[in-house]
Amino acid sequence: KAETPRKKKRVFLAAPRGFCAGVDRAIQIVEKSIETYGAPVYVRHEIVHNRHVVSRLADLGAIFVESLDDCPDDRPVVFSAHGVPKSVPQAAKAREMNFLDATCPLVSKVHIEAERHAKEGRHILLIGHEGHPEVIGTMGQLPKGKMTLIETADDAREFEPNDASNLALVTQTTLSVDDTAELIAILQSRFPMIALPYKEDICYATTNRQLAVKAIAERCDLLMVIGSVTSSNSKRLVEVGAKAGSNKSMLISSAESIDWALIDEAETLGLSAGASAPEYLTDGVLAALKSRYDIKIEEVEVTKEKVVFRLPRQLLNK
Ligand code: SF4
Repeated sequence: KAETPRKKKRVFLAAPRGFCAGVDRAIQIVEKSIETYGAPVYVRHEIVHNRHVVSRLADLGAIFVESLDDCPDDRPVVFSAHGVPKSVPQAAKAREMNFLDATCPLVSKVHIEAERHAKEGRHILLIGHEGHPEVIGTMGQLPKGKMTLIETADDAREFEPNDASNLALVTQTTLSVDDTAELIAILQSRFPMIALPYKEDICYATTNRQLAVKAIAERCDLLMVIGSVTSSNSKRLVEVGAKAGSNKSMLISSAESIDWALIDEAETLGLSAGASAPEYLTDGVLAALKSRYDIKIEEVEVTKEKVVFRLPRQLLNK
């Protein structure tokens, strides 16, 4: 009996997608620490926001905890890529712990900016999402009261400074480029003197992944972004895709969470992955699609990335 021909699907694959240089470095720091010091190595908070990455490192000998209080004094501890409040390395030093800082250098750059502004007497506005570890880390660079979190356009409209001529702005690195531009425009029109970042704080990886999703969104009946629900940059990719014209836009954690009924209805699919999602998850989704449909993949690359960050000195030449 002749087989029924398989349905055809076009898949637009966004590039760049997946791991950024900061995530790559953070994972390497945990792996090298385990190689160098032996297991267990403690990691404060999920090293990057991806369940698959975290469980692989746990298998290698990493123990994930939420607080430094849960780490013994005599084992190494790694701080996650999102950055930590100043009090955390201070506490580790006081306990004479061996700590390795996997804070992405682009997050550290924002910390340094915030400190510089504070030294020059400015009050700082931080655009970001409350409760995200990067926001907790950035706010924790300065004493309480020196920084105000701006999450929404209403926050930007309603903020009342003590001194409107002495304000500065920094942002979380993984925000929507367009939404942030809107908030900055509101703040700038209210406070023309506000000091803005020299070059914006949203990082190259977030920007490029959003551009790539925008380039394919209009052609997609369904756009899938691989990433965890805790991953800020992945969730922003879903929103950017929806705004840029994809019929449906959704977050999936891996091939296992694909909604096949939705795929069946869609003729054209889009696929991207957040900065903390390993490429093998993209390969898994493509393989699952191939097993059911006759798929034609077209990669749409908006730019090439060559950024690489050095490992901390403690781990070099190990
Ligand atoms: Fe660094 Fe950007 Fe990657 Fe975050 S998303 S780890 S800021 S490069």
